Amino acid sequence: MTTIREEDFVQSVADAFQFISYYHPADYLRDLHAAYEREESPAAKDAMAQILVNSRMAAEGHRPICQDTGIAIAFVKAGMDVRWDTKKSLEELVNEGVRRAYTDKDNPLRASMLADPDGKRKSTGDNTPAVTHVELVPGDKVEVIVAAKGGGSENKSKFAMLLPSDSIVDWVLSVVPTMGADWCPPGMLSLGIGGSPEKAMLIAKWGMMEPMNMPELKARGPRNRAEELRLEIYEKVNALGIGAQGLGGLSTVLDVKVNDYPTHAASKPVALLPNCAATRHIHFTLDGTGPAKLDVPSLDDWPRIAFDTSKSRRVNLDTLDKAAIATWKAGETLLLSGKLLTGRDAAHKRMVDMMARGEKLPVDLANRFIYYTGPVDAVRDEVVGPAGPTTSSRMDKFVDTVCAKAGLIGMVGKSERGSAAIEAIKKHGAVYCIAVGGAAYLVSKAIKGSRMVAFEDLGMEAIREFDVRDMPVTVAVDSAGNAVHRTGPAEWRAKIGKIPVAVV
Ligand code: SF4
Repeated sequence: MTTIREEDFVQSVADAFQFISYYHPADYLRDLHAAYEREESPAAKDAMAQILVNSRMAAEGHRPICQDTGIAIAFVKAGMDVRWDTKKSLEELVNEGVRRAYTDKDNPLRASMLADPDGKRKSTGDNTPAVTHVELVPGDKVEVIVAAKGGGSENKSKFAMLLPSDSIVDWVLSVVPTMGADWCPPGMLSLGIGGSPEKAMLIAKWGMMEPMNMPELKARGPRNRAEELRLEIYEKVNALGIGAQGLGGLSTVLDVKVNDYPTHAASKPVALLPNCAATRHIHFTLDGTGPAKLDVPSLDDWPRIAFDTSKSRRVNLDTLDKAAIATWKAGETLLLSGKLLTGRDAAHKRMVDMMARGEKLPVDLANRFIYYTGPVDAVRDEVVGPAGPTTSSRMDKFVDTVCAKAGLIGMVGKSERGSAAIEAIKKHGAVYCIAVGGAAYLVSKAIKGSRMVAFEDLGMEAIREFDVRDMPVTVAVDSAGNAVHRTGPAEWRAKIGKIPVAVV
């Protein structure tokens, strides 16, 4: 009988969460690089270049790939011949590992977990609890998979109880366009088909941890129904033209996973989960001989990509007004320098509530830009930790008020805006730009200064003022209301109809 010591298990979990915070899996890197090489859309290629450059920087610097270091997920397959040298539950052991990883002093990770989710929504402080799934299996080893799933992609999870005669491909093609770019493509889609509703979700999440192997599948052809579906969905989703970051292009998904389970004769439950540009998971096995040894990848695994900014327009945020931003066109790339405010959900809500009560805001937003971000804490000589953009649509309902009443003229975030926000941007002659989701460490290197301005009690959601130099962004909604997330995918969908979609 194998004995697993508490400390070995906890330290292995902690090491694994640290590891995946800065090392992309090699298969994701390989397939993303291949997609980058064949991409024909300049905007999508530029976004993929940033993700690849960011990935190398994170691996070199041992700092998070993305500022959203995720909800911690663990799958534990415990052998029935294992003896545990601990008084704690497996869930408590996983949580202890998560706590240790997320509060690491050399590479602190962002604590995104909130308790009381429909009430006070207060941070638990250390990203616990994890979501832990335990299975008892024959044997004397413990297999563990840990994953850190970003909120942007988790929020786009889909479930449907289809009729037995319904087409799963049709359903996938109907829901993927509604997911927009909030899940930071290019990534993976994982489907769970059958079982009960919760089983479908679980096998979809499990499938997300499988190695990426679409090039091999394409080369050898499908051997069963699940593989037929993988290929068909892969081809058809990419033909939608959504592209990297929703900018329009050839590659929206790098792989599609399909797992199934027997189900009731009256049912066809199906779950669809996306995995984003910050694909983070690792597998290890404990056999009682000590903590897991994780293979450190070679930096040679990372392609050397040049991120070309020579065609981008340089702008000074400190001298902007509506007349200046009216000359910017949707799709244009910019390098921002000067003072940039930050704020996201909680800060916007508080500001709008204050304005409704007639109170003075603690910061003057007139002719300013605000960046939707919640950065990782800084370490050593960093000005700020990784500070990528968060999903902008969560701030849509505040746009009209902050532009009309406070004079804000620009926003920076990620992915598309809804119709009401686009109308408000147009009405107020404002502008919305995107930074690349999943390129947080790269973005943070453009931030040369940071000071707390207001709402410090909101932690990572506080309002800061960044001093940025040459921060790369793309105009996503210009002051005339033109939106790249509408025009880009439509343009590439039409082009792909004429380009053979032999994308591997
Ligand atoms: S890449 Fe995008 S969806 Fe993924 S964790 Fe980062 S911000 Fe969230």
